[in-house]
Amino acid sequence: MDNRRRNGGEDLNLWNIVSLQFDKAAARLDVPKGLLEQIKACNAVYYVQFPVRIGDRYELFQGWRAEHSQHRKPTKGGIRYSEMVTQEEVMALAALMTYKCAIVDVPFGGSKGGVCFNPKKYTREQVEKITRRYTAELVHKNFIGPGINVPAPDLGTGEQEMAWIADTYEALTSGQVDSLACVTGKPVTQGGIRGRREATGRGVQYGIREAFKIKADMKKFGLTGGLEGKRVAIQGFGNVGYHVAKFLSEEDGCRVIAIGDVSGGVWNADGLNVAQLAEYRDKTGGLKGFPGVKELSGPRDVLEIECDILVPAALENQIALDNVDRVKTKMIAEAANGPTTLGADEKLIDRGVMVIPDIYLNAGGVTVSYFEWTKNLSHIRYGRMEKRLDEIFRDRLVSTIEQVTGKPVPDRQRRELLKGADEVDLVNSGLEGTMQNAYREIREALDKDPRLEDLRTAAFAVAIGKVARSYMELGVFP
Ligand code: NAD
Repeated sequence: MDNRRRNGGEDLNLWNIVSLQFDKAAARLDVPKGLLEQIKACNAVYYVQFPVRIGDRYELFQGWRAEHSQHRKPTKGGIRYSEMVTQEEVMALAALMTYKCAIVDVPFGGSKGGVCFNPKKYTREQVEKITRRYTAELVHKNFIGPGINVPAPDLGTGEQEMAWIADTYEALTSGQVDSLACVTGKPVTQGGIRGRREATGRGVQYGIREAFKIKADMKKFGLTGGLEGKRVAIQGFGNVGYHVAKFLSEEDGCRVIAIGDVSGGVWNADGLNVAQLAEYRDKTGGLKGFPGVKELSGPRDVLEIECDILVPAALENQIALDNVDRVKTKMIAEAANGPTTLGADEKLIDRGVMVIPDIYLNAGGVTVSYFEWTKNLSHIRYGRMEKRLDEIFRDRLVSTIEQVTGKPVPDRQRRELLKGADEVDLVNSGLEGTMQNAYREIREALDKDPRLEDLRTAAFAVAIGKVARSYMELGVFP
């Protein structure tokens, strides 16, 4: 039982938080009670302890893999390496995956895994051993496989861990032609897909852009004038936080003024150089000591910097009752899972802060993971068959325009017009379309039923509605 609490006794158990968020939306839906209970429950959890030889001693590790819902298969969700992982956290994150997949129409049930350790305290070889042993446990208990359960990266894991998982799975189940589809988020050279590494950050960018397209909403929250020049503060400078910072600053003209990580953070009201910060982090392992900026000493300090858009991209329960009154922003874009507690969420809504919820906003990762999975099953890179043909058609079109107008198309425009779509172009367009449709669907649900009150409740309502429909159409196996 996860009994984590912060000063004032606020319940920080993510399973309880997600359950209450679910209940709030469910109360406004016309879905049979028993079915709601089934959708909310976590169907299966595998708990394992396993020994790994670390140097000259044996160390015992605890791991979990939760399958929240199998209404669609395989189930899907990341693997987290952190000293704070608990069974209930993994169950809650698996539940969020079910709702997330439903919102972006990715045909998977929700799952999540975790191993309780801090990978930064171990060598690369030791992390490899732990990863391979955990994977072997999942294989033996049928908690991994292209049609069963497909992990991906999460906090503390990345492409390297996914490659080890794929290799271990292949070694233990050899001869399966589809084995690479047992895990997503792999390096491109090992069956991964271009655009997956940055997909969650890209999805966050696309989601924020969608919100900014609804002028009436932006006016209501005091965010007029588009994204250009908006001040952004980000907690977390790992995979997700870095890409959000990069895309919002380089492509949308936002000013990233503060970035935090586990060691503290950096702040500069004139804007930070994201590329230089990333280089510094890669060299030193963190942001601490970066020259020419103001330092933030605590890992949650960045959340209190005055800004237009605050992006929590680290951990759950970061914006809570003990700091929400000092949060000075107009929009919270939840890139992390569960970053806002229930109490803080209510206060933010009362104060007129716009919250774009995690179950929508960080769904870019699983969306592109779905593309990677289908790529692995089809055994061919997206665009390989049609790229050249596409270029030939474009060439003909440009020639026709030149003939009809009697004028040559300038070289730069010609090059742009002639370029056929690469894998990464297809991935990003698929992701953008997905994030656009999902935002519209959630926003329309809120318009249709104002009792849903906020975007999070509307997103839960959309998700529950889709999962319920799936159960009702398929029936329940006796
Ligand atoms: P990561 O391990 O790459 O980076 C985590 C970052 O958070 C690091 O900068 C780290 O310093 C910081 N951090 C860790 N503990 C902290 C603390 N106590 N206080 C402040 N900062 C802290 O992880 P990631 O993949 O970027 O994931 C970040 C969040 O996004 C998580 O909530 C994860 O569940 C969520 N998410 C990730 C993906 C994905 O594709 N990686 C997809 C969806 C959601």
